[in-house]
Amino acid sequence: MLENEYIEIKHERFIVDMMYARANNMLGQAIYQEIGWGNKAVVHKDLWQKLENLVPELVKNKMKMKICDAYRPKIAHEMMKKLIPMKGFFADNAERSQHCLGTAVDVCLCDEYGQELSYPTKVDAYDAVLSKQVLSGNIGAFTEHLKKARHDYFAEGLKKEIENREFLKNLMESVGLESIQHEWWHYNLPNGKIDNYPIVDLRGKF
Ligand SMILES: [Zn+2]
Repeated sequence: MLENEYIEIKHERFIVDMMYARANNMLGQAIYQEIGWGNKAVVHKDLWQKLENLVPELVKNKMKMKICDAYRPKIAHEMMKKLIPMKGFFADNAERSQHCLGTAVDVCLCDEYGQELSYPTKVDAYDAVLSKQVLSGNIGAFTEHLKKARHDYFAEGLKKEIENREFLKNLMESVGLESIQHEWWHYNLPNGKIDNYPIVDLRGKF
């Protein structure tokens, strides 16, 4: 069965806090609740095999990993595109978003108590305020935010935040995951593209 290829992340080293399952995200809507998905972190088992390899390092460093997005149902992706119709912001179609294939995660590291470490930005923190500004054509703060979300962003005053970002990157790369330049929190399974992984609707299966 298809759903046997996917795994819901339930592990004491991982905190599941799907940002599109709550309303305080850039969309201002709890999309994952609306479509009957909820606060579930599901990934393809090939991706989970890699994430699981993080556990010894997480234990050693007294850390937990927060999963802020994982598998994203195609219908959610389409709703998000409608809510934020900016070109290039969300992948043009669900087939091109590895989230929709279950082969990407958005993550950050937390301390043992689940407190997020500090980073140059929050995970995907294009919050409702920024979102409203963008929709009204005022993109100044948003553009600044996009700059800070990149792996090549440096600032004197943010030494600790940048160190945490780089620690996360090294950790994820050590288990064979790939970063993308413009979002420090997003990691892909290499070759996790539509040629190798189908679009599936997993609603009701977990
Ligand atoms: Zn992502």
